[in-house]
Amino acid sequence: MKEELKKNQIIVGSIMEFTLSENQEMLKKITREFAEEYLVPVAKESDEKQELDETAFQKMKEMNYFGICIPEEYGGAGLHNDTIGHCVIIEEIGRADAGWGLTMAVHNGLASYPIYKFGTDDQKKKFLPDLAKGNKVGAFCLTEPNAGSDAGGVQLTAEKDGEDFILNGTKIFATNGGIAKTLLVVAKTGEKDGKKQLTVFIVDGDTPGYSVGVKEDKLGVRASKTSELVFENVRVPKENILGELGEGFRLVMKILEYGRVTIAAQSVGLGQAALEASIKYANERVQFGRPIGRNQAIQWKLADMYCAVESGRFFTHKAAYMHDNQMDFGTVSSMAKLVASEAAMKAAHSAVQIHGGYGLMKDYPVERYFRDAKMGEIYEGTSEVQRMIIATQLLRKGV
Ligand SMILES: Cc1cc2nc3c(=O)[nH]c(=O)nc-3n(C[C@H](O)[C@H](O)[C@H](O)COP(=O)(O)OP(=O)(O)OC[C@H]3O[C@@H](n4cnc5c(N)ncnc54)[C@H](O)[C@@H]3O)c2cc1C
Repeated sequence: MKEELKKNQIIVGSIMEFTLSENQEMLKKITREFAEEYLVPVAKESDEKQELDETAFQKMKEMNYFGICIPEEYGGAGLHNDTIGHCVIIEEIGRADAGWGLTMAVHNGLASYPIYKFGTDDQKKKFLPDLAKGNKVGAFCLTEPNAGSDAGGVQLTAEKDGEDFILNGTKIFATNGGIAKTLLVVAKTGEKDGKKQLTVFIVDGDTPGYSVGVKEDKLGVRASKTSELVFENVRVPKENILGELGEGFRLVMKILEYGRVTIAAQSVGLGQAALEASIKYANERVQFGRPIGRNQAIQWKLADMYCAVESGRFFTHKAAYMHDNQMDFGTVSSMAKLVASEAAMKAAHSAVQIHGGYGLMKDYPVERYFRDAKMGEIYEGTSEVQRMIIATQLLRKGV
């Protein structure tokens, strides 16, 4: 029994890791310093202008943040097997500016990583170096006017023409749309046994026939670009098929599993920012002759915010850990996305309340956090869709 217990402790000890490694701590510190210097000071202006700050953009390139999860041989930072490290970076960027957090989560998690993970050697050599350097920004284009939560509803077509495919249709709500030059585009390539077949194509943003349509003016994460993308007879060589022809739906689900983890990390950063701002304000703001933080009504809010944000972080790191250890992490990635985004919303909601009237004014960042947080409950699969994924697994396999 003693021996069994010992063995169990070793197993448990090897799985339950609640601290960051030395390297991950270093990544956190460096990114925090970077974000404090280059993102925090311009976050308000970027939100107002709906623009990513140009200096920050150049610095992001220098820091190799565009190549977080790309192996070093392609010019990346080499965190393709350290998703917790990846999440730590996205969290810190998201803490400073959720718009930048979304931009980087999509570029890295939904565009670059899928090419590394599912691409051919030639595709990796062709596309990854420019993505890693930030010379080309990546986008993931699934959503269409009639295909939102129902990803299978894609209507953009890709028709075979000799050795190429011709793409026609419209994507909407694409993050990085307008600045992206390497696009993963989900297209309908036919039907088999009465079922729609989807395929993912890597499309170069300079291909004739491709254009950027409506640039959305949105509630939150305003520094990030969200655009309609139009494809009119866009010719794409068959070498640019990611994965297998007709296997796109399964591939999209796999891509989203990983993407959700980095998106969750962005929400954790945002929730953290709301919590920190609230602690500061609760200690500083005096009413009835004492700091408002001395009131239990405020303390309870802070405690609940902390618990929520920390839960989001735990799920995010757990999903990242499971991914890196080749475990089935799909359900936990949905749990991470759901818990982290709702935690950020809860934290931002309480942050505004704790700030009182000032919380509604532009002088304080919490009104921006509030607007940013709402977005996280919708993009990359709504909260309802995440609950659907989790519950489906529960009913199929149990706990
Ligand atoms: C800022 C931003 C960035 C985005 N970036 C990207 C991107 O980079 N790439 C991309 O492809 N897409 C992107 N999207 C699109 C996003 O993923 C979709 O908006 C989202 O998946 C929801 O789709 P929808 O907007 O069509 O809502 P709908 O699917 O129409 O849903 C409307 C409502 O109905 C609910 N609902 C739908 N079906 C069900 C169901 N079966 N059961 C219960 N409730 C249901 C939804 O949860 C939601 O509350 C982005 C969106 C935003 C706002």
